[in-house]
Amino acid sequence: MSPKQAPHLGADPYFPAHGDTRYRVHRYELALDYKPGPNRLGGSARLSAVAGAEPLREFALDLAEFRIGRVLVDGRAAHYTHRAGKLRVRPAKALAAGAPFTTEVHYSGNPKPVRSPWGGLGWEELTDGALVASQPIGAPSWYPCNDRPADKASYQIAITTPSAYSVLVGGRLLTRTSRGGSTTWVYEQSAPTSSYLVSVSIGQYAPLRLDTPGSGATVPQHVYVPAGLEALAAHDFGRQPEMMRLFEELFGPYPFGSYTVVVADEELDVPVEAQGVATFGTNHVDGRRGSERLVAHELAHQWFGNSVTIADWRHIWLNEGFAKYAEWLWSERSGGRPATAHAAVAHALLSRLPQDLRLADPGMRLMFDDRLYERGGLAVHALRCALGEESFFRMVRDWAGQNRYGVVGTADLTAHVRCYATRPVDGLLEAWLHETALPMLPVAAG
Ligand SMILES: [Zn+2]
Repeated sequence: MSPKQAPHLGADPYFPAHGDTRYRVHRYELALDYKPGPNRLGGSARLSAVAGAEPLREFALDLAEFRIGRVLVDGRAAHYTHRAGKLRVRPAKALAAGAPFTTEVHYSGNPKPVRSPWGGLGWEELTDGALVASQPIGAPSWYPCNDRPADKASYQIAITTPSAYSVLVGGRLLTRTSRGGSTTWVYEQSAPTSSYLVSVSIGQYAPLRLDTPGSGATVPQHVYVPAGLEALAAHDFGRQPEMMRLFEELFGPYPFGSYTVVVADEELDVPVEAQGVATFGTNHVDGRRGSERLVAHELAHQWFGNSVTIADWRHIWLNEGFAKYAEWLWSERSGGRPATAHAAVAHALLSRLPQDLRLADPGMRLMFDDRLYERGGLAVHALRCALGEESFFRMVRDWAGQNRYGVVGTADLTAHVRCYATRPVDGLLEAWLHETALPMLPVAAG
């Protein structure tokens, strides 16, 4: 299936300093060496890109503080400056409009999280290893990139680290080669991937397989956990193959080749999704499925967010609203409370909170506000009530299918929804998505 052409190429209104709209990257090849003790990362990144409609005399990559060895464009040394997270590159010869070009950056240093209003993002050193959780702007903490969600690319990632550690990256493990106490892990992610969704986990992890014979699993599913947590995690993630089957039934085929869960050896505020991967903290494992709704939430992001990706961060509710609603659907279909009950609870909660959040463009400060998740789930529930069961689920499945590997905004969803409605839905969409007052609790039409 060919990726849909990205129609949205504007700079991100929430993070205008990130990304460069004048070119697109279609492939990254990272060859990196990581030493966990001194937290030392170094190597090269090779980007295959295409210039946009204008000739490029210079262009910018996002990259945090590293020592830059050299920068080559099409194999020739290029001038560059590197400050405030921007690596500005001036090729020896201007690039023609529409011309393909490669950029190679050699760099090294001590990666550290990028500061943000939500704390550190990106590469994080752990007590014994490292993890990457970049949403939304942490990717430049470890590799040079065109850091905007709409610029999706394929990735080959090779990481060399001491052999005692596992290197877990989304995608297919191509080779694992050991030499002199170090092992090089090479992964290929061929599906179009946003820079924020590229994750790495390095640590001493024990593997569990969930897609065992008899589980009925349709997709390879692995869970990697710190030693000692195997039994608890096997229970807590034990229903994930069932979840996978449900979501494939509701949302269409799983978009990637495999699904990996990493329980990092660290407590995390919230689990985070990446392409083909979700990272949980030790605090999300209790042996009682206390965080199962989050298992569903992260899995749903593989469709909503990772395969169908937002054009820019104003549309984050498209990721979180559907992931929240997937929690409710899992509950409903696995013997728990129905979605209507979850909707009533969420509505009661929101009715007691300030109503100043506009779902379709919440502003940067509120993009991860709890209210966005709850209202997002409610907005999806409102669509279910308005469209009816059959049309609603067809609409959702077609949304994921028609936009597979693509880039979307809120206006794309509203146009899509109108095709499934037998009655006008403009008022409902306007009230839930563009106004701040909380609409009435949606009720299914009789
Ligand atoms: Zn989420």
